[in-house]
Amino acid sequence: MQLSDPLTTHFRIDTPHNKALTRLRINTVEDLILHLPQRYEDISSIQAVSSLTKSTDAVIFGQIGGLKTRKSWKSKVPISEGWVEDGTARIKIMWFNQPYIAKMLVDGMYAKVAGKVAGTEGKLYLTNPEVERMDSLPIDRHDSIFNQTENLDETIYPVYRETKGVTSKWFYHTVQKCFGAGILDKISDPIPETTLSRYNLPSLRTALQWIHTPKKAEHAASARKRFAFEEVFYIQVAKAKERAQVTVSSSYVVETDDEHIKNFTSRFPFALTGAQQNAISEILKDFSGKHPMSRLLEGDVGSGKTAVAATAAYAVATSRPPEGLASKLQYGNLQVAYMAPTEILAKQHFESFIEYFKHLPIQIGLITGSGCYKFPSKSNPEKPTNISKAQLVKWIKNGEIPIVIGTHSLIYKSIEFKHLAHVIIDEQHRFGTNQRRAIAKKDTRLPHLLSMTATPIPRTLALTVYGDLDISLLDEMPKGRKAIITKVVPPSQIQKVYDHIKEELKAGRQAYVICPRIDEPDPSKENALQLKSVKQEAERLKKTIFPNAKIDILHSKMTPKEKDDVMERFLKYEIDILVATSVVEVGVSVANATNIIIEGAERFGLAQLHQLRGRVIRGNHQAYCFVVTSKDTTGKSGKTLERLKALTEAKNGFELAEYDLNIRGSGDLYGMKQWGLTDLGMEALKNLKLVEAARKEAQNIIAEDSELKKYPAIKSKVANISKTLHLE
Ligand code: ADP
Ligand code: MG
Repeated sequence: MQLSDPLTTHFRIDTPHNKALTRLRINTVEDLILHLPQRYEDISSIQAVSSLTKSTDAVIFGQIGGLKTRKSWKSKVPISEGWVEDGTARIKIMWFNQPYIAKMLVDGMYAKVAGKVAGTEGKLYLTNPEVERMDSLPIDRHDSIFNQTENLDETIYPVYRETKGVTSKWFYHTVQKCFGAGILDKISDPIPETTLSRYNLPSLRTALQWIHTPKKAEHAASARKRFAFEEVFYIQVAKAKERAQVTVSSSYVVETDDEHIKNFTSRFPFALTGAQQNAISEILKDFSGKHPMSRLLEGDVGSGKTAVAATAAYAVATSRPPEGLASKLQYGNLQVAYMAPTEILAKQHFESFIEYFKHLPIQIGLITGSGCYKFPSKSNPEKPTNISKAQLVKWIKNGEIPIVIGTHSLIYKSIEFKHLAHVIIDEQHRFGTNQRRAIAKKDTRLPHLLSMTATPIPRTLALTVYGDLDISLLDEMPKGRKAIITKVVPPSQIQKVYDHIKEELKAGRQAYVICPRIDEPDPSKENALQLKSVKQEAERLKKTIFPNAKIDILHSKMTPKEKDDVMERFLKYEIDILVATSVVEVGVSVANATNIIIEGAERFGLAQLHQLRGRVIRGNHQAYCFVVTSKDTTGKSGKTLERLKALTEAKNGFELAEYDLNIRGSGDLYGMKQWGLTDLGMEALKNLKLVEAARKEAQNIIAEDSELKKYPAIKSKVANISKTLHLE
């Protein structure tokens, strides 16, 4: 048996099995032994029927048979009887005066049976035992190859994720067969021994034994830790490798000085926060090096990322001409590309940039599907002017326009720069080295990268998925901002919220209403969640609550153009209430929209709710957020309310993100499945020490051997991960 052997070579697997295994992506022996148990069950209390003795309490697992009911001959008491068999022996079971018992049981079913042992030696039976139906019997460890030495500690057995036709037991026994055939001798550990011993992690061989056949719970835990480490480690190696490629590349040196930057920032109508100042210094320091910056700017909505981006763009656009590149312009001719996720956001950035740059002779271009603009206009130096795409593209290509703003796809695909020194990206989480190289086109120098996000993610996750980036945090809000008033509202009190919104509308404000779904649930589907839908809710609000308001909708099934149009109209105050799905999450700022109602709030993670709430943070008016649950506070939703209360207490999005990670645990947090993390890997993200360790080891290994020539096994794992991460 070889690790790479297809399973069908050694195991007689019938077709339904085969299909199920393929679905689980288990094709080879290696895949099989790496299909790890989901959890363990303790069988310490279980006894073998053959070892039972009189007058003791017995707990046995076995198959029921021989059920029948009769009347006792003397007392006429009804007696039900049968037997239970566990592979070691069979014992009689009897119930007195409980004739219904036998009717509830069926011959051949698996059960856990607990009761008192009565009778005489050789003729033992269980009286009135409790019976609990089981889907299958626990794995019989007594017939496994590991039982040569009976180990009394051996009380837990693995439970595997099952799919149609493939039972947990099948997995167990098939893995054991592989072990029996000596497969563990053929395994070499991709993780270097020094790394393992530094963190006290078991070798792959030991870990496989411990995870599939633990003798103690600690062994299983230790093995799981190893696999979790390994998973995070490969991602970290992929990231470190990417980082190393960037580090050896060259970039444009952006030459500037503090005085010069101050001339720019001191004109802002506000003082920079300490966090903004730090971020700017970090960026300028990176700019002064010969190698490209790779930096993530992370900060809540409203924390002032655009001001930081504008300052970085200013530094680039006004940098002294690079050596050998003479310039006829007042400044050098280094260029900046600023990419936004949607057109309307690109437009907003353009407008903000005009505010920041209007006193300077620095040209700014905007490219959108619906037209191109250039600032300043020749006739009016305060305003932008409409130009043709061909013209804009030409001026960018010859380097005359230093700052270009547009959507990701537009800039990425259709524009060639003369000297692209810097790329700024908003909410675009996948922008690896290859994309960076591609946008630079023929230029051998890589642009400095500033990736900006308002998505609060836990530190462990940031260290992992952004492992190739340095991080600047804007964890300080500008002074004097009014805090948003946040209320958690059970549906029975929604009327108060509507009354409040009516007042707000009268005062000239606007509102968002967020619903968890777009359409009505299909009533023919029994399990369709009765959550409010955008379409129905918009109609209902119009008909029964706000008859005089202009109400419109926004959701993810609309085309980008339709979405932009609606946002544009909301921005122009042609709409009072926008009923939307969470698509407004990454979005546009509408200063006059100071209210947000979030329906079905328990469906959202706290960090996501926080981001939605961020839609109303910007104005000068007091902002309100109403977090509405789908049910009133009963039973489980009591917990929900408690969770939601964190929204009113947490200081910032990061705190909420940590909270999410800890209470929601594994599952698809932050779309992590798309990063290729398994449940085990997700668990690892709760462990900062482990993530830091994996990161450190990954960096070491890349520092030692950046091409992973000495580590072919790691290299191939990492190649797969890079593919997933960049959708290449
Ligand atoms: P983000 O992109 O992080 O959501 P923006 O850069 O759009 O935030 O800033 C939000 C608002 O706050 C803008 O109107 C901006 O002018 C203002 N702002 C930015 N920095 C500060 C600051 N330090 N003090 C006061 N207001 C600020
Ligand atoms: Mg922004």
